[in-house]
Amino acid sequence: MTPLHAVPGDAPQPSRSGSLTQVRVEAPGKVNLFLSAGAPGADGYHPLTTVFQAVRLIETVTARRQAADLHGTITLTLTEPDPSVPTDATNLAVRAAALLAEATGVNDGVDLLLRKRVPVAGGMAGGSADAAATLVACNTLWGTGLSQAELVGLAAELGADVPFPLRGATAVGHGRGDRLTPLIARGTYHWVFATAAQGLSTPAVFRRFDEIAPAPAAPVDVPAALTTALRDGDTAALAACLHNDLQAAVLDLRPQLTEVIELAESAGALRAIVSGAGPTIAALAPDPAVAVRVANALNASDLVAGALRADAPVAGARMVG
Ligand code: ATP
Repeated sequence: MTPLHAVPGDAPQPSRSGSLTQVRVEAPGKVNLFLSAGAPGADGYHPLTTVFQAVRLIETVTARRQAADLHGTITLTLTEPDPSVPTDATNLAVRAAALLAEATGVNDGVDLLLRKRVPVAGGMAGGSADAAATLVACNTLWGTGLSQAELVGLAAELGADVPFPLRGATAVGHGRGDRLTPLIARGTYHWVFATAAQGLSTPAVFRRFDEIAPAPAAPVDVPAALTTALRDGDTAALAACLHNDLQAAVLDLRPQLTEVIELAESAGALRAIVSGAGPTIAALAPDPAVAVRVANALNASDLVAGALRADAPVAGARMVG
């Protein structure tokens, strides 16, 4: 049974909704092409410099007008039930709808249908994509008319990784990763993502990162070679620049991932690295045929739960119906 949640707010407000009965929005998962972390500040957060790229692993949120007897509540259903994804008020999509309702004074409620394609707890920001898609979907369903900049502001309140799937494409993130600057990226990049049966907790990875060695006070800048490779659409040059400061911590927590990296590279990937806070391994292939070969090699091994092919970059959250 799907739990129900009252929309936060004061006195009941009149509905601002237009005539739409449902809005469908897609938002992408991400891979980090580069991630440098500094020592945690007084707030406990690590300052980051990271390069995000949006990949064609697409989350779909359908926001439906709430049934009359459930008016004012936010409900969520998964198209394919998954015990590792909550459907209660802790789901990031539910939190996004509640935050938009609170910020705009709307109390219509919404019934969310969530189709997940990004690996859960895989360092690919699937939950963040769901939140971004929900903000866009509810903003239209409720007729609240917030600008993209206002939605980005709400996204940052929900989590550091939520602004990026709103924008998509390729971007540098500073601060907690939420202050974004777009990057020019030519061409198409062919990725293979090796998924793990068990996710990793991002805070646990950062704890291990801190234990292994003290980080410098500030993260390093994005190397010029990386921005040049993206601007030129040079996959081999990009592969040489891929970097993730969290990789050592993730491999320390999951030593068998080293074999996954080696297998992907021996099957033809130009480079394979840990995606974000892992445990997904992101392998960059020179072309689609090699991506198929890498995915087949990974799928044939017993080292991974699965292998997903996805090209990149793709657009951020957008309405599809
Ligand atoms: P990040 O890189 O932003 O840390 P992630 O991609 O590693 O995220 P998610 O798939 O976003 O991880 O989910 C992390 C945890 O958040 C899950 O284990 C789950 O308990 C919880 N969660 C909350 N909302 C969602 C959602 N909409 N989809 C998936 N997990 C969610």
